[in-house]
Amino acid sequence: MALLFLGACTARRDATRPPASARASALTVRVQRAVSGTGTWSLTYELPTPSHSVRFTRPGHGFRQSHWRVVEPAAASIERQGDEDVLTAPVGSPFRTLRIEVSSYEVKPEKDYQVFLPYSDGAVLFYTGVLGLTSGEEEPQPLHVLLIPRPGERVVVAGQSSEKEVRWENSPQGTYAYFGSGSVVREGVTAVVDPGMPRPLREHIERLLPRLFTLYTARTGSPLSFEPTLFISFGSTPRPGSINMSGGTLPGLVQLDIRIGANRLADPEVTRRLSELVAHEAAHLWNGELAVHEVAGGDWMNEGGAEAFALHALAELGTLPGEYVRERISDAVSECLFLLEGAPLRESSRPGKYTSYYRCGLIISAMAGASARQSRPEADIFTLWGRLLRDVGPRGHYDEERLYAAFASEGVSPRTLAVIRRLVDGPNTDAESRLLAELRLLGFEPRVCDGDSARTSSCVRVGRVPFLP
Ligand SMILES: [Zn+2]
Repeated sequence: MALLFLGACTARRDATRPPASARASALTVRVQRAVSGTGTWSLTYELPTPSHSVRFTRPGHGFRQSHWRVVEPAAASIERQGDEDVLTAPVGSPFRTLRIEVSSYEVKPEKDYQVFLPYSDGAVLFYTGVLGLTSGEEEPQPLHVLLIPRPGERVVVAGQSSEKEVRWENSPQGTYAYFGSGSVVREGVTAVVDPGMPRPLREHIERLLPRLFTLYTARTGSPLSFEPTLFISFGSTPRPGSINMSGGTLPGLVQLDIRIGANRLADPEVTRRLSELVAHEAAHLWNGELAVHEVAGGDWMNEGGAEAFALHALAELGTLPGEYVRERISDAVSECLFLLEGAPLRESSRPGKYTSYYRCGLIISAMAGASARQSRPEADIFTLWGRLLRDVGPRGHYDEERLYAAFASEGVSPRTLAVIRRLVDGPNTDAESRLLAELRLLGFEPRVCDGDSARTSSCVRVGRVPFLP
């Protein structure tokens, strides 16, 4: 989920543009859901100048041909030209108003956002990225989107929630806007959780969200410089035993879609996994958006950091038992060593190895937190990242050297930093013995499993996690 990085850059560029009022006329689109019936939407564009044709800025994957109908100008159609969709008016009749009716389609294109994401109560998330267009050869213009809720419903977008029309300036990558009547969490985060989720699970998540965002803000000492939004849709899946959690991130936004089989609806594992997923993705708002990195092979920083934020916060909030956290860290040590196979961690971008960034990254974060705590009892993973976030400032960029510097300033010892650097840069032929020695010095009480597994050489259990009570 690395789409955040682009978003941060674009948001900054948008901020330097003159306000809408300073321009003669702007490109606008009204988005309205049909009052009756289920799946019809109307899009009404006003172009700044008359045009013979417009080009959509994002691919339509064939749906602009099958599910979009041009109402005005009459006799215009949307043609697919390679990856691009182009709408052309009949010869000699330029247009300024463009009206399109769209029947919703609930299909996830490969490597792109699903345009209509249903909630189980009839509410819908609409992806605004699909709206972007340009007329002629000009640079893409900013698109002013007017989102109009149906009577009795509201629109929730980018931290706003309103029963009236909401205005939002689209970015090229777009965002999700919620249209529906579900209840909205508005404390630390603006969130809509699907009311069709089993009630204990929904109530748990709705209680967790404000506490989680408050904890991240307070403990890093770094409030987000934007209004975070989180959407969780829910549905069933035909396979009774399956748990399927997917989602994506966009600037300021976490979107999750949860599908649970009938036999798992009351399974505590669902609660744990969803809590971890929410806490992990929320952590990226701090380590992938409030601050950003673009280091090739550096995803161990944000992925490992997010894993550590999630486990630490959920243990502290009482959502995850200490025993479970110890298991997760034990598994992370074992899997990290197993996946590395002696290679430097930074080379894990290749297929089949990406999980190393999560596992080894979590161990690095846990070691850094424990090392800092040995010199400053109040230090933990949040104070380490809090230091980095203050060092680089809102929307600032970091890299490994800046992270190590923040670690060092917060009390991580030169010895622990050397172990971390070696894990990241290699060589790692003797990674297991070095890692175990350091974990021992930091109080994790690691031991190699005695069992009979074929992976015995990479099976390690930790007896203690220093940040747990
Ligand atoms: Zn992540």
